[in-house]
This record gives sequence, structure tokens and C-alpha cells, in this order.
Amino acid sequence: EAKQQGRNTWHWYQGDVQRVTRESVLLRQELHAALSHDQFELFYQPIVEAVSGRIRGLEALIRWRHPEKGLVSPITFIPLAEQTGQIIPIGRWVLRRACQDAAALYAAGERGVPVAVNISSLQFRRDGFLEDVQQVLADTGLPPALLEFEITESVLLDGADQAIELINQLKNIGIQVALDDFGTGFSSLSYLRDLPIHKVKLDRAFIKDILTNRCNAAIVQGIITMAHHMELVVIAEGIEEREQQEDLVRRECDLLQGFLFAKPMPLKDLLSLPDFLPHP
Ligand code: C2E
Ligand code: MG
Ligand code: MG
Ligand code: MG
Repeated sequence: EAKQQGRNTWHWYQGDVQRVTRESVLLRQELHAALSHDQFELFYQPIVEAVSGRIRGLEALIRWRHPEKGLVSPITFIPLAEQTGQIIPIGRWVLRRACQDAAALYAAGERGVPVAVNISSLQFRRDGFLEDVQQVLADTGLPPALLEFEITESVLLDGADQAIELINQLKNIGIQVALDDFGTGFSSLSYLRDLPIHKVKLDRAFIKDILTNRCNAAIVQGIITMAHHMELVVIAEGIEEREQQEDLVRRECDLLQGFLFAKPMPLKDLLSLPDFLPHP
């Protein structure tokens, strides 16, 4: 009986794998079409000063407007695009669109807000990335100080020296770099020391239960204190409650991002926010 059950389980499992594979083959084909049919959009989520809640930056977040499925989350297609290499053309599109939008915001206001763009490790480590960036800046006229990149520690997997050199080159042209999702995966505290980054983003996993989980609160406090000693700016992600904001203000976190302040939204909605354009 156990054997039969085992076999059933195996059959079921195999069927599941086939289904998943078929779905991802389809998704892969659709992803290819998505670029040429202009189905991607960028949403923007404000990043605010912790104490005042004033907008200090924006994070660009990709969305896929699928003809049947509606708005598709990047969580479902970015990992696949990274596996297939499609992240390269998609990432180029994101970079260009974000710079165009940021340049338009800059032109509309007296001073701009920096726009942060997520860069996959594959894209970051690829030859020609720096040249691509310089080309997009030249084409859009965006001041480099208004562009930021968010990278994750996986950029280090294929050699830390190259990543460090690239971050320094970006820094030299005026683009700042943040270490995203810090504290998850294989984050090591020494990355904060070794990478010439200027910001660290604490992952939502630590923020979610910061009011009730003493260990997570201790980790957050430790990272904030240490980062400040290294002259890094600290952003906390996923703030949903006022009490979380108050707690993070007490812990001297610099910047916050989360649904409490604003959800990611299309560019045109941003322009009608009362707090936009930003305060001096
Ligand atoms: P991320 O870079 O860590 O982005 C933050 C994610 O947290 C976003 O999810 C954002 O919508 C979500 N978020 C913000 N505030 C809250 C909150 O208060 N509560 C909750 N529950 N979630 C909040 P999103 O837009 O679904 O993006 C997911 C991930 O997909 C991003 O995580 C990033 O890793 C990746 N991604 C998004 N856009 C791009 C892109 O243009 N290029 C690349 N390479 N990756 C991207
Ligand atoms: Mg990010
Ligand atoms: Mg993040
Ligand atoms: Mg995250």
C-alpha cells in the first residue's frame, strides 16, 4: 500500500513538473513577445524620509500588462527572465524608461528626486553595462545624481573585485548604488565594508514583525548602527503600520518605503500626489 501511494505521489509529482515546465515554456515565449508588443510598464514607489514622511526618492518596479492575465507581478517573471537571459533586453528597457521618466520629472520640477532602478546580477556583471548606462544618460539628459541602482549581494558570486570596480566606476560618474534585500540570502556583514555602496536596504522580512520579534529588532538595530558608522544610508522596506515607522525613527533609520506611505503607482498618479514635487 505504501508502495502504491509512493508511486501515485511520484506520478502526481511528475505531472506537476511537466505542468510547471509547460507553463514556463509558454511564459518564456510570451515574455519574448511582451517586449516587442510594449506590454511592460514601470510603476514607481516613493521612498520617504523616516521622520517627516517627505518624498526623497522613487523606486522603479516593473509590471507586465498581460493581454489575458492582467497586471503580472515581477516575482513571477523576473526569475524566469534571469534564467533565460531575457533579463538583459528587459533590463535595458527598464533602464531607458526609468531614465526618460526621471528626466521628465526633473524637467517638470525645480529639483529632481533620484530614481532607483533594480539591476539583476546578470545585467550588472555583463560586459558593456557601464557603456549602456552612459549612453542612456547621454540620450535622456538625466543628471547622473538622479539615478541610483539597487543590486543584491549575488553580484559578488562571480568575483568581488569586478563588482567593486564597477561600483566605483558608477560612483565616479555620479550614480549611487544601494545593496537591496540586505539580511536575506547569504548576506555577510563584511559586504557592507567591502562594497563601495552608499545605501543599504533592509529587507521586509525583518520589518514585518519588528514590533514583536526581539531578535529581528536587534538585527535591524545592529545593522542601522553599524551602517551609520560606515557612513551608509539605511532604508527599511515594507512599512505598513504607523508603529513600525515610529519604531524605525527611534532606531534612527534614515529612509522608509512601504504601503503606509504609498504603493507602487504609474508615473501620472505620482504627479498628483500632494507631496509631489518634493520639498527643498
Ligand atoms: P524589491 O526590489 O525588493 O522591491 C520591493 C518590493 O516590495 C516591491 O514588490 C514592492 O511593491 C514591495 N513592497 C513595497 N512596500 C511594501 C509593503 O509595505 N508591503 C508589502 N507586502 N510589499 C511592499 P514588486 O514590485 O512585486 O517587486 C518584487 C521584486 O521584483 C523586487 O523586489 C525586485 O527584486 C524585482 N523587480 C521589480 N522590478 C524590477 C526590475 O525592473 N528589474 C529587476 N531586475 N528586478 C525587478
Ligand atoms: Mg529594489
Ligand atoms: Mg528590496
Ligand atoms: Mg525584496
